[in-house]
Amino acid sequence: MTKFSDLGLPETLLRALDREGYQTPTPIQAEAVPHLLKGRDLLGIAQTGTGKTAAFALPILARLIADRRRPAPFTARTLILAPTRELAAQIGDSFRAYARFLKPALSVAVVVGGVSARPQIDLLARGLDVLVATPGRLLDHMGSGKLNLGATEVLVLDEADHMLDLGFIVPIRRIVAKLPKARQTLLFSATMPKEIAGLADDMLKDPVEVRVTPAATTVDRVDQHVFFVDGAAKRDVLVELMRNADVSRALVFTRTKRGADRVAQHLDAAGIGAQAIHGNKSQNQRVRALDNFKSGATRILVATDIAARGIDVDAVSHVVNFELPEVPEAYVHRIGRTARAGASGRAISLCDNGERPLLRQIEKLTRQTLAFTDRRSPGARGDERQAVRPGPRSAGAQADRGPQRPQRQAQPRDDRALNGARPHEAPRGDRHPGRSARRPEVRPQA
Ligand code: AMP
Repeated sequence: MTKFSDLGLPETLLRALDREGYQTPTPIQAEAVPHLLKGRDLLGIAQTGTGKTAAFALPILARLIADRRRPAPFTARTLILAPTRELAAQIGDSFRAYARFLKPALSVAVVVGGVSARPQIDLLARGLDVLVATPGRLLDHMGSGKLNLGATEVLVLDEADHMLDLGFIVPIRRIVAKLPKARQTLLFSATMPKEIAGLADDMLKDPVEVRVTPAATTVDRVDQHVFFVDGAAKRDVLVELMRNADVSRALVFTRTKRGADRVAQHLDAAGIGAQAIHGNKSQNQRVRALDNFKSGATRILVATDIAARGIDVDAVSHVVNFELPEVPEAYVHRIGRTARAGASGRAISLCDNGERPLLRQIEKLTRQTLAFTDRRSPGARGDERQAVRPGPRSAGAQADRGPQRPQRQAQPRDDRALNGARPHEAPRGDRHPGRSARRPEVRPQA
């Protein structure tokens, strides 16, 4: 098996990967990194969850490390274009994590719409080693003379098919026209519609093509279940779930840092030891929480998505989505925490009425319909997802199931975690009232 140390990456990056807890390169990393280090262009057919971010970030960082020339004011040595603000922020975080041991530090900035332009201009004015941006805001800065891409050495276009959906192809072509012809270009896309193939043809020179199996392989190994609950009842349902002896090590996800604190406090108050980890905690607190979780001193860690990146703890028996993520890809990241190194695990999502659209996005992305149990109060149910059939499976049979088969359809079944709760299945074809063939709703960045 390929090791990170076989890929030709500098020592300081290997140390950072070690800190992240990455043990071996993912297939796209093993295949792409050596070519990228040689300066080749790349067409990567891969989706989120495959490790594609590190596949491009590591060779870019290696290049910057090998030549620490300072970027001129209002220029960027490397440019990564992403379709959404969330993805751009994650990419920026990844670059910072992998570059954490570099001295002097690299300049990394994330430039997206929906926030004030002024601080972004200050960052651009200093010149950047790594600029991660959404296309709309980038064009604004270019138009007002705050960014010159004439010296940019590497361009990455991430999630190109998503860019197409959001109407970004023309803006991208306008941006690319301002870059030097002599550059390294990488294009990643989960699918290859003809517009993207055309863009790849125009942008890439003699590219290496790398194709990897989608993240669904991880999703398939995880036994997933949804509890429909009233928003106000979530904490109590969580306590009930976490009391189950099967939960040997659980990672609970919340959307906000305050939410993580509140949930951890609630569990603690109920006599279930839990700690929260998020960006507002000091480095010491984070390290301590993680160490306790790893050693088993704390059984439950409550985390935000960003804080959970880089948490690579073996034998996480359960991942609980206390709140569903805003971005469906984050669901795949979250539940992947329980299926590390070929193991299988359980993922439980608490979904209130307001989160139904998020659940639909997740089911669309992962191409599966999730099994569910309706725990809502009768008044909150309405007649959607009408319950028709109690689950026949015994709790014991459930526990004895071996490795999980991909679960494409909702299976009615008992859930051990909630003794006596009767799961139900909606009538076939009526699982998602209002479901349409729309793409996931992700707002374009203006
Ligand atoms: P990506 O597809 O780039 O969004 O990455 C998916 C997730 O896998 C992220 O949470 C990464 O931190 C994590 N990851 C990336 N590469 C590795 C690796 N070699 N080993 C373990 N986790 C990884």
